[in-house]
Amino acid sequence: MNAIRIIPTLFRENGRKDLKALELQTGFDPLAEGPVMLRLIAELYPICRSITGDGLRESLRLLQRQIPLELREVPTGTQVFDWTVPKEWNIRDAYVKNAKGERVIDFQKSNLHVVNYSVPVRQRMGLGELKEHLFTLPKHPDWIPYRTSYYKESWGFCLSENQLGGMKDEEYEVCIDSTLEEGHLSYGEYFLEGETRDEVLISCHACHPSLCNDNLSGIALAVSLARRLKSMPRRHSYRFLFIPGTIGAITWLAKNEDKLANIRHGLVLTGVADAGVLHYKQSRKGTAQIDRAAAHVLKHSGQAHEILEFSPYGYDERQYCSPGINLSVGRLSRTPHGTFPEYHTSADNLEFVHADRLGEALAVSLEILSVLENDRRFVNLNPKCEPQLGKRGLYRMVGGTADAGVNEMAMLWVLNQSDGKNSLLDIAERSGMRFESVRRAAEALEGHKLLRKDLKAVPLAAH
Ligand SMILES: [Zn+2]
Repeated sequence: MNAIRIIPTLFRENGRKDLKALELQTGFDPLAEGPVMLRLIAELYPICRSITGDGLRESLRLLQRQIPLELREVPTGTQVFDWTVPKEWNIRDAYVKNAKGERVIDFQKSNLHVVNYSVPVRQRMGLGELKEHLFTLPKHPDWIPYRTSYYKESWGFCLSENQLGGMKDEEYEVCIDSTLEEGHLSYGEYFLEGETRDEVLISCHACHPSLCNDNLSGIALAVSLARRLKSMPRRHSYRFLFIPGTIGAITWLAKNEDKLANIRHGLVLTGVADAGVLHYKQSRKGTAQIDRAAAHVLKHSGQAHEILEFSPYGYDERQYCSPGINLSVGRLSRTPHGTFPEYHTSADNLEFVHADRLGEALAVSLEILSVLENDRRFVNLNPKCEPQLGKRGLYRMVGGTADAGVNEMAMLWVLNQSDGKNSLLDIAERSGMRFESVRRAAEALEGHKLLRKDLKAVPLAAH
């Protein structure tokens, strides 16, 4: 906040131009990261992940090539609040063979063909008996549904309706070469230390097999965020969690209760790469700083978007926002889960996710975090009437220009509101101006000794 950066006058009070200014300042273009994120999704796509097991481990190890993620293992049977860490599931192969010995359902072609967490099976049976274990999507006859059975020991196959239509009434050989045994629940954690112990929690689930938007897009966005934040000065520390949904969040929370007091803000990232508009789901508090920052950034993004009120259904925000935890954690997604037909089907594939959508989600996420990083209170050192900005080169003179890129109206707002009570985000909200514009005005005024930082930290939003 010390050096005044000279921003060319293309700076304007709207979305895209401002992004351009950010890019000019930092030499980083979040939109150009889209293809990088898409490549990571394509690498992870074939792996058969679950809430435990080697597919999850392999995925986390692959992420270790991008960021120094620590792999943690929690043994089966560990009690975590009201839950118990389940047995570990692994699978090598699975198929249904017809009388000719041909694989009519083949795990090697798509890992969605097996109900995730299926117990081992080796049996022969007729179509009637087999059908009790087959799942299809009659409405979308080409798609394979995604099904799980984590907490009830059973087995099954998922296939397209068309595939089922081609199966004759004959005897089939059914094989699921899986194991369900004592083992571990794995997750990845990356702690990026900042200037203070105040933490931002970034969480994504990593337990779905070949599904792109649901799980892989959140993972790719979290990795890019981590890499970018690592190269920037940070007031906050950042904790990234790559965890199996529900049981992973519950396990982490149960084992890290001592760390919760440091978590000031958080975001669950998932489903950020489809063609829909960005949706921010508020934390349980609804008025947390992250809720305000996200609403502010989206409002000024120049893009259509939606703000969703908190509800106790969804992804791991359910656990982070349970009443006894109650963290300020919101969720960034695009089309909400369950409201698009491709959700939890084979159609949530590499064609369903888009590099430009990923890039835009990264830009918005970084801007939300930038608001949290830079929001603070200042005190006007010349509070009796307006200071004379013109003689300091801060106000446009007749025939001259203002200090490059600093918005005069933003300076007037910052001076007027900086009585030690209002933070820059308060001022941005009240003035209707973009936070970055207000921040830059404060920086210029501080540089001219018209403002000083209020040493008291910005108070947290009401609990
Ligand atoms: Zn899902």
